[in-house]
Amino acid sequence: MQMKGGDRIAPSEPALRIIMRRLREIMAEPSDGQSRLDKIVRQIAGLMVAEVSSIYLKRQDGSLELFATEGLNPGAVHTTLLKRGEGLVGRCAELAVPINEPDAQNHPAFAYRPETGEEIYHSFLAVPILRGGEVLGVLTIQNRTAKEYSDEDVEVLQTTAMVLAEHLVSGAVAGANAGAQFSRTVGHVVRGQPLSEGLALGHAVLHDARVVVTEVAADDPDAEQHRLEAAVAELQASINEMLEQGDLGASGEHRDVLEAYRMFAHDRGWLRRMKDAIGRGMTAEAAVERVQNDTRSRMLRQPDAYWRERLKDLDALSDRLLRVLSGSPRVQGEIASLPRDAVLCARSMGPADLLDYDRSRLRGLVLEESGRQSHVAIVARALGIPAIGDARGVIERVEQGTPIIVDADSGEVHIRPNTGVIAAYRDKARFRARRQREYRALRDTPAVTRDGQRVELHINAGLEMDVPHLAESGADGIGLFRTELQFMVSATMPRLERQTQMYRAILEEAGDKPVVFRTLDVGGDKALPYLRQPAEENPALGWRAIRLSLDRPGLLRTQVRALLRAASGRHLRLMLPMVSTVGEVDRARALIDREVQIMDRRGVARPIEVRLGVMVEVPALIFELDALLPRVDFISVGSNDLMQYLFAADRNNTHVAGRYDPLSAAPLRALGAIAEAARRHNRPFGLCGEMAGRPLEAMALIGLGFRSISMAPASIGPVKSMILSLDAEALQRWLQASMYAVEGSLRAGLKRFAEEHGVEI
Ligand code: PEP
Ligand code: MG
Repeated sequence: MQMKGGDRIAPSEPALRIIMRRLREIMAEPSDGQSRLDKIVRQIAGLMVAEVSSIYLKRQDGSLELFATEGLNPGAVHTTLLKRGEGLVGRCAELAVPINEPDAQNHPAFAYRPETGEEIYHSFLAVPILRGGEVLGVLTIQNRTAKEYSDEDVEVLQTTAMVLAEHLVSGAVAGANAGAQFSRTVGHVVRGQPLSEGLALGHAVLHDARVVVTEVAADDPDAEQHRLEAAVAELQASINEMLEQGDLGASGEHRDVLEAYRMFAHDRGWLRRMKDAIGRGMTAEAAVERVQNDTRSRMLRQPDAYWRERLKDLDALSDRLLRVLSGSPRVQGEIASLPRDAVLCARSMGPADLLDYDRSRLRGLVLEESGRQSHVAIVARALGIPAIGDARGVIERVEQGTPIIVDADSGEVHIRPNTGVIAAYRDKARFRARRQREYRALRDTPAVTRDGQRVELHINAGLEMDVPHLAESGADGIGLFRTELQFMVSATMPRLERQTQMYRAILEEAGDKPVVFRTLDVGGDKALPYLRQPAEENPALGWRAIRLSLDRPGLLRTQVRALLRAASGRHLRLMLPMVSTVGEVDRARALIDREVQIMDRRGVARPIEVRLGVMVEVPALIFELDALLPRVDFISVGSNDLMQYLFAADRNNTHVAGRYDPLSAAPLRALGAIAEAARRHNRPFGLCGEMAGRPLEAMALIGLGFRSISMAPASIGPVKSMILSLDAEALQRWLQASMYAVEGSLRAGLKRFAEEHGVEI
């Protein structure tokens, strides 16, 4: 970086330190927020030999307003507005990354604003002003000559933006929107995604992970390196200690989750990047924050949910590290003052952070960013804490102690509920408790209809910690074990031994009850970090499940080997996902047979029998059932996927998911045809999609002839009580008559049937 002649700076003094000193001086002067911004842009332009330096700040609607400039037409300040994503500045804010363009005006994204007079400047550098993962604005420099700015320039501008962000959130700049302002007095409902079921009434506790970094530049880099090393060692030790806590249990995937977290804490790349930042003149705290900002902007750009969640772990670790550095680890202080009915609210949180809190006082958890696959969600489920994720806007609306209700059945968070809502939820909680008692009382009652038809009710599971639900719910078995979940929570590919041990533990815990293991259903949107996968335009139609397994047989072979070993001397049920043609079944069966032969050769005892089933999820297979059924031992309809393919409606796209009713005549006819074919071929058949767990849908399935369905454990009680009150014969007659006579949805008719026949829906 060059310096302007007049600045008389010792050539050895790092540029970063000079800028920081100047910024500190500006902040210390008595002045209003706007004048400070004006001074900052003047200083930046001067020190970076830039003809232009400008600050754009984000408004509530996401547009960017020019707040200060040195070099552009001063009349453009507070006049020039860029819409969300507009121009290079908008792009920088959207992507949260620096943009370094030698010839900005010829860039296709350039947005010309005549009032600024910027047409004469060619080179352009913009960096996002980031605070806590949120983009507050954009800081730019421009020059007439076309040149690419150096890495050092980018670094200096980014660090300046960090200081600027702290200034903005302090509220010193009038009109700057440092986070949207919401009323903190009126009630509000935020909708999110249920992560861990249940209901909680309590008071908000804000998990404020942030430690404000005030000192950015350091005089003694060696001392900072030592501080960082000591803090990292302390962080690693605290995570080790957490893993050694006896009450976490010896195995289960929450341990895998914490192991993965521990691996991140030892990530060399992370440590190196922080050390490099210290080498460039930063304090240890600023270095942590700088690297954290980079991680967060990578997170924003990450289309893959799996990786976004993993980056969040790294983000949470940075917060922990900052707390260690600042000498304020949360543990003692906050735990002591935790109310007895705490509902923890956070933007996002690492799994270890949740474990810092006293579980006996935690009633619920609300997260703004984390989804079902997040590690913290898995730990919340393991601890049985009702939790909601993706609940945007909660943090702005609550403060410590705000009354809050978490309805993790509907995904609603009620903030400052009025007395009517509280009373309704108290009733709901009591009703729920009573219903739960009733369902528990039905636990050992077989699901038999009034006219004597036995229906097998199974549960869907995917993690070791789900298996105890089998005994608790009184289900007949596990109708779908989604093996990929284990792969998704691990940081590295689970090896043969780990897989075998897990499958064996599941079979042991299930005892005499059958377990259907579905082979890996990965690919598409279920990405694994250790598996190279091309980006796909339509992941649901892409290279996933059995397709991927057959193309990369190593994965499937290891899994089949682990399953066969785990089931040595027992019954093994395997099920193939997303089968589109019978050829795929033949190839999978050949692979399984080969593995059995290898077992024989090695003298390992085989399973008593291996039953192979197929999921009916792809509509084409419905027209090949006569060829398929003689080749397999059972089939199970994956109605989640089957519906998405039948209706061509992406199950993950909120615009279309739920748009078409599975109780419409068309899908019911398809399901009826599957049942009919299976009966003709004398093959057991069932259904394991979400519809099996909804009493009205489950009733329709029984009317179509299904006698085995698999669902979330919490649905067993409600579905069983529906079955106990149902006359299956009468329903079957009604459905046969209506299914081909009615157009559109049969939902209303089915509801009427239930009412008229006293079926408990
Ligand atoms: C289904 O598609 O219905 C199913 C049970 O599988 P998954 O939801 O795991 O795709
Ligand atoms: Mg499926």
